[in-house]
This record gives sequence, C-alpha cells and structure tokens, in this order.
Amino acid sequence: RLPVICIDGPTASGKGTVAAAVAQRLGYHYLDSGALYRATALAAVHAGIAIDPREEERLAALARSLLLRFEDGRIWLGAQDVSDAIRTEEVGMAASRVSALPAVRAALLALQHGFRRLPGLVTDGRDMGTVVFPDAQLKVFLTASAAVRAERRHKQLMAKGISTTIADLRAELDARDARDASRSVAPLAPAEDALVLDNSSYTIDEAVDQVVAWWQA
Ligand code: C5P
Repeated sequence: RLPVICIDGPTASGKGTVAAAVAQRLGYHYLDSGALYRATALAAVHAGIAIDPREEERLAALARSLLLRFEDGRIWLGAQDVSDAIRTEEVGMAASRVSALPAVRAALLALQHGFRRLPGLVTDGRDMGTVVFPDAQLKVFLTASAAVRAERRHKQLMAKGISTTIADLRAELDARDARDASRSVAPLAPAEDALVLDNSSYTIDEAVDQVVAWWQA
C-alpha cells in the first residue's frame, strides 16, 4: 500500500495549509481535493451549465473531462490559470452544491486515486479518509472554532485584495458546512479511525509537528 495521509475537516479549518506543509516536510505529493470541486464548479459556470440536480449527468461528464493541471503551486484549467478564480467564497459555495451530486463525486474518484504515488501522498478535503482513501495509514480530522475559521479566511482574502466582513464570512462558512454535513453522499464527518486535532489555538507549525509526529510514531 502506498503511503497516504488524509486531513479532512470543515471549511477554513487550516487543513489545506497544514496538509501542504506536511507534504513538503515529508517530500510527498499533495492533493487539494477541494480544488477539484471548485474547478468543476467554475467549469460549469464557464460552460453555462446550471449547478442543479437536473444537470447531474452533464456536470459529471464535465468533471470526468476536466483538463486540470497542478503545476508549481498554480492550478490550470485548460489554458487558463484559475488559481485565484477558484478561491472566492462564491466558487466555494458553488463547489459545495456541485459536490452534493453523487455522479460528480464518482466522476472525480479515479482522478483522486491517481495522485497516490511514491513516495507518498498528503491530501485534504472532506471525505479523503472516509470514502476516497479508506485504507489510509493516517487520518486526521482538523477542526477549529467558527470564530477562528472566519478570522483566518478573512485574513487570507484580505491578502488577496478581496474585501468582505468577518460576519458575512462566518455566515457563509456556516452555511457551507451545514450543506456539507447534511448531504446524502459523503457527508462531512470524521472517519472512525481518524485522530481529531483542534487547530483553534495552534500555530501552523505546531499543527504540522503534531501530524508528522503521529505519522512517525
Ligand atoms: O476545501 P474547499 O473549501 O476548497 O472545498 C470546497 C467545497 O468542495 C467544500 O465546501 C465541499 O462541499 C466540497 N468538497 C467535498 N469533498 C472534498 C473536498 C471538497 O465535497 N473532498
């Protein structure tokens, strides 16, 4: 079995940052699975396909044929660098809606499995440990309080020149988490064998240290 570390958790818990840093420390590959759902949502908008259960088959076909490339920290959809475009909270919400469709999730499964390569993979998302890599050697469920998550996301967006208020963001994150936790396929929940890490009062380095310590234990 090729090594896989799964880091799942709610929106803006810090899982992307922590997962990427763990991958870098171990020299492993990194997969941001949320980017696949975000890119699918963006591609749907570009193709003029409504994100609606009635369009499930067309959206799944779109997900299967995504021309997505991860290159030097940038994400390309066809000839377009979508690294920034997929990060807006609007696309996050669209990703949450497209990800509730079972055919779309199934379409993205093989793509995700393809990232499991030597020397190993660190991946983050909502269902990495429960559905995509159930046999992963380490599963972490990263949480943080709603207030801390809204504040962190606010800082991230400010740094990108996107202006919002913390209150608006918190409402959006709560709405997205409620949708992700209540959907019928792969609802957001820790795997039975996941180790829970509350990231509210940790620095990134401390969270990374903890995950690496668990991996090496
Ligand atoms: O993690 P991120 O915020 O980029 O994910 C965007 C959306 O994609 C999430 O709100 C969730 O609905 C969906 N997603 C998912 N399964 C994953 C990763 C993301 O359903 N493994």
